[in-house]
Amino acid sequence: MAEFIPYGRQDISEADIKSVVDVLHSDWLTQGPVVPRFEQSVAQYCGTEYALAMNSATSSLHAACLALGLGQGDWLWTSPNTFVASANCGLYCGAQVDFVDIDPRTYNMSISSLEEKLLVAERQGKLPKIVIPVHFAGQSCEMKSIRALADRYGFKIIEDASHAIGGKYLTAPIGNCQYSDITVFSFHPVKIITTAEGGMALTNNAELASRMSRLRSHGITRDPALFTHGSDGPWYYQQIDLGFNFRMTDIQAALGVSQMLRLDEFVTKRHAIAKRYDELLVDLPVISPWQHPDSNSSVHLYPIRLELKQLKLNRRQIFDALRAQEIGVNLHYIPVHTQPYYQALGFKTGDFPMAEQYYEQAISLPIYPSLPERHLERVISALKAAL
Ligand SMILES: *Cc1c(COP(=O)(O)O)cnc(C)c1O
Repeated sequence: MAEFIPYGRQDISEADIKSVVDVLHSDWLTQGPVVPRFEQSVAQYCGTEYALAMNSATSSLHAACLALGLGQGDWLWTSPNTFVASANCGLYCGAQVDFVDIDPRTYNMSISSLEEKLLVAERQGKLPKIVIPVHFAGQSCEMKSIRALADRYGFKIIEDASHAIGGKYLTAPIGNCQYSDITVFSFHPVKIITTAEGGMALTNNAELASRMSRLRSHGITRDPALFTHGSDGPWYYQQIDLGFNFRMTDIQAALGVSQMLRLDEFVTKRHAIAKRYDELLVDLPVISPWQHPDSNSSVHLYPIRLELKQLKLNRRQIFDALRAQEIGVNLHYIPVHTQPYYQALGFKTGDFPMAEQYYEQAISLPIYPSLPERHLERVISALKAAL
């Protein structure tokens, strides 16, 4: 049996292991010095004022929405071509969720669809409080245009950059929040760097940082300036918000600190693999990922689209043929509005046709920094055979 090639996987070095073991030998497994060290490392890399590590990107999105005041009666808009977490965070806060269809070239939120939807929403008095653009596959959304619309219509922006640490938009690092209120990263093992489970929220706004910091730890503060009355003593803290336990451990942060040292190397390797795929796929009836000139992707995914009209087999058959060859192809994403939970909220198939059409044609090929050339060639020859 041929070795299974996953669609994504972590890259763990001996230095990563040592970094984690050092924490296990230390006094602090959680709430110690390594979490702030990891936060500083990411904030410095991105050029952002504040970074709050949490136990997942999902928690970070949730805390970000709450920090921006999202609640009942509000609307949150995101892309249908994303993981369910980008939308669920709105529902956690009691808000209503809607979607903006995707651009057929980038598979990111379409600026023209967003513009049209905002015009209608303004007339109906249903403008969104928060829009969450998702940097699909690591390619930045067109943030300048989204920022201009936010200024005109008064919504807040959370970038779901779960795929995109190490990527750039207009030569500046994704995560610098130049065009947004908050940016969120994920450190799940399939993402660009990992802490096993983990996420981070970045912002340049001190008030948002302070709120998210409280929300990740029960809504508790130890800052006397925020107390409603004088301190009872050195042990004293106050709960001033309803928060959660969204904290990252120092064990995880140690892995993050160590992984950050190889972030650029990871992204370079991903670019090299994507370039090889681009070359090897050129004569096949598939569409390779298109790169917007303003973006320098972290290349989290390599999604191809099948030219189904030129093919005898359907997508399912091609997918199955690849899986039968132990190629761990995957699919990103099932449009969120077609999930049963969202259908029960009133969404229907047909609501976001570009995302649905993309879903019918898409297959994600394996891509991760340690993917060897011989595996890449196995992926291509299996794909050729299937097509
Ligand atoms: C992975 C992912 C998330 C959730 O990340 P977790 O860290 O697993 O919570 C959210 N949004 C997108 C786009 C993702 O890919």
